[in-house]
Amino acid sequence: MDTKPYAYAEVIIDISHEKLDHPFTYRIPDTLRGTLKPGDRVEVPFGKGDTGRQGYVVGLAEHCDLPAGKVKEITSLSAGKTGPGTDDGSERAVELAAWMKERYGSTFITALKTVLPMRREVRPLQQKTLVLTAGEEEARERLALYRQKHQIARARLLEGLLEVPEQPYALATDKLHVTAATVRSLENSGLLRVEVETSLRNPVRERNGEADTLELSSGQQDCIRGVLDDFDRKKATVSLLHGITGSGKTEVYIRIAEGIVARGRQVIVLIPEIALTYQTLLRFYAHFGDRVSVMNSTLSAGEKHDQFRRAREGGIDVIIGPRSALFTPFPKLGAIIMDEEQENSYKNENMPKYHARDVAVRIAAMQGAVVLLGSATPSLESYYLASAGTYRLYELNSRLTGGTLPAAHIVDMREELKEGNRTMFSSQLQSLMEDRLSRKEQTILFLNRRGYAGFVSCRACGHVMKCPHCSVSLSEHMHGRLVCHYCGYEQPAVRVCPECGSRYIAGFRAGTEQIEIQLQRMYPQARVLRMDADTTARKESYEKILSSFANEEADILLGTQMIVKGHDFPNVTLVGVLMADLSLNAGDYRASERTFQLLTQAAGRAGRGTRPGEVVIQTYEPDNYAVRAAAAQDYRAFYDEEIRYRQLLQYPPVCHMLAVQIQDRDEDTALAAIGEVRGMLETEDGAGESIVIGPSAAATSKLRDSYRFVVYIKNAKYDKLVRYKDRIEEYWKGLTAAASRFFDTQLQFDFDPVNPY
Ligand code: ADP
Ligand code: ZN
Ligand code: ZN
Repeated sequence: MDTKPYAYAEVIIDISHEKLDHPFTYRIPDTLRGTLKPGDRVEVPFGKGDTGRQGYVVGLAEHCDLPAGKVKEITSLSAGKTGPGTDDGSERAVELAAWMKERYGSTFITALKTVLPMRREVRPLQQKTLVLTAGEEEARERLALYRQKHQIARARLLEGLLEVPEQPYALATDKLHVTAATVRSLENSGLLRVEVETSLRNPVRERNGEADTLELSSGQQDCIRGVLDDFDRKKATVSLLHGITGSGKTEVYIRIAEGIVARGRQVIVLIPEIALTYQTLLRFYAHFGDRVSVMNSTLSAGEKHDQFRRAREGGIDVIIGPRSALFTPFPKLGAIIMDEEQENSYKNENMPKYHARDVAVRIAAMQGAVVLLGSATPSLESYYLASAGTYRLYELNSRLTGGTLPAAHIVDMREELKEGNRTMFSSQLQSLMEDRLSRKEQTILFLNRRGYAGFVSCRACGHVMKCPHCSVSLSEHMHGRLVCHYCGYEQPAVRVCPECGSRYIAGFRAGTEQIEIQLQRMYPQARVLRMDADTTARKESYEKILSSFANEEADILLGTQMIVKGHDFPNVTLVGVLMADLSLNAGDYRASERTFQLLTQAAGRAGRGTRPGEVVIQTYEPDNYAVRAAAAQDYRAFYDEEIRYRQLLQYPPVCHMLAVQIQDRDEDTALAAIGEVRGMLETEDGAGESIVIGPSAAATSKLRDSYRFVVYIKNAKYDKLVRYKDRIEEYWKGLTAAASRFFDTQLQFDFDPVNPY
């Protein structure tokens, strides 16, 4: 480490304003010379009154060009200092923040705060642990008894403890959906003990025997060997593991993590939080015991800090968590594994709008680590790079659990209309639901509202109104006009279908509440649970609905996309997708991809237990390739078709796309500002080397009382877009300095946007 006694430090002040977004030079007091380093938090005098402000050191210098009298001195070092010579990851964090600022267009301070572990000191993390106290025989007898009495929650908890006899309390309540009352009743029966410890004490390694004797498939072996070889040869490579659900990907992650840990390095495992199942976590606990730590969004800032401290000090080898776990300051990171890499939640929707996949690749390169991306339905981005040879590709093609894939039926809702069925349920879905009700098996009904923006379609022929320039669905606006959210194209609403002349053309209206009412009318005896944004405003109600369904207290679970992922309901043998079209026509270029992923996942929900499952996909576009490929579980068929569309219309991953967004509480001001940006781009890009589209109103055109407008720039080279960003930033600085009307107007950048605006 460089500990020259530098005299000056470059400090970023902790105020998030573009005008202050550059380092200020301060003199380092004698007491701190030789110890201060980039990433350290300091208190400095700032502004006319020399108010005390917090700041971050981002650079050190021996000399300073400013006149001596102009340079102020750092007041003190803020708490959280780790001492000279220790690698607390802060220097790397500063380097990473600088890269993110440049690549994603945010202020330095926002990037720093995203990347640097929080510095707040807290009381140590208290963790409650469940410990099985009963002997195996007694526990198995009890389990049989619970099953017999149909005490499902108790049975599930005991079953889990038999697999891994010591596990975090929160794991059972959050992921297994058992309540505190269930835990207490097992405690009172003398089956388990609740311990309050500062961390999990006893690794559960004894149980490994079983899992480790699994004979790995040749596909699994190839991937494990390949990734570890890359690591050993010090090649920072990215690999993509494509394998259907149940093909053994998680097993591969665990083996690779073990291999890396055996080499004295650490591993970050990223998992979209909602997709983490109890079973998956148990497997990690079984292998790594207290050397693994799970990070979730319910952790307080203090608890996260504590986790990061343990990581820095070598207290853990593996961290599992959502995208922010990427910034865990492991001193010797060896691998980043990213499960379900296609998930939208890997994209940060606040500044800096980074994608965890890109940042993972960057961090790995900085630390000599390897990256493994895994998915049953890889993002077009990753598969495109894998096809081009930029990423290594490994594929697992068979289900190891035995068990057949669910049978999928596509139902053409146009035919239902012809036959006079005006309900939301096709006759096939109805008869299958009746069958499940009579057999006491469970059904999930899924209303795919993700990204839904009010498209207009014909219920007689399935025709969807699309933008002639962008080939995405037009959205119906309040004033009745149809609008494209990319280029701003508008046209009046239509009354008859331009394709078949039918009058059944209208905006889709879809709400879970109306569907619930219909369901109850049709099946008064059925117990229905509804789960959507309205019924789950509070966290407890979300847990309550899931635990109640898991305990088989209801026959049908009706909900939005939040029910599709990460829950194992073994008694579910039927999944109905009510309107596949809702996500298919979301009005952005990723609509088909999202639909394919959601339908594939929804299908995966049926038949998780021993009984085979069935899936009914209801749609007005039964011939759509995304629908067909999902029903056939054929990723390649989908990819080949989709990449052609992206090529034809120059959408990512074939091309890169920068969304420049303007936001203001006053609509005219926002419009004027986006007009300025558009005009400036016109002059900038005189040669027309980029495609500039818009301005248009964002799909969510008014958010928290602000009006939002967007301009898109497309170019095959990411770096070109970064340069546009720089020039727009510069122009914007000049503009806001000159015109006070834009003082409150916000400018934001989003590279390769993932969610529709
Ligand atoms: P995925 O992550 O792709 O869904 P998992 O790794 O969870 O797949 O594997 C699915 C199931 O198959 C798990 O129960 C796992 O224990 C089991 N499994 C994994 N690899 C093997 C193997 N080589 N032989 C037998 N069973 C396996
Ligand atoms: Zn029509
Ligand atoms: Zn358009």
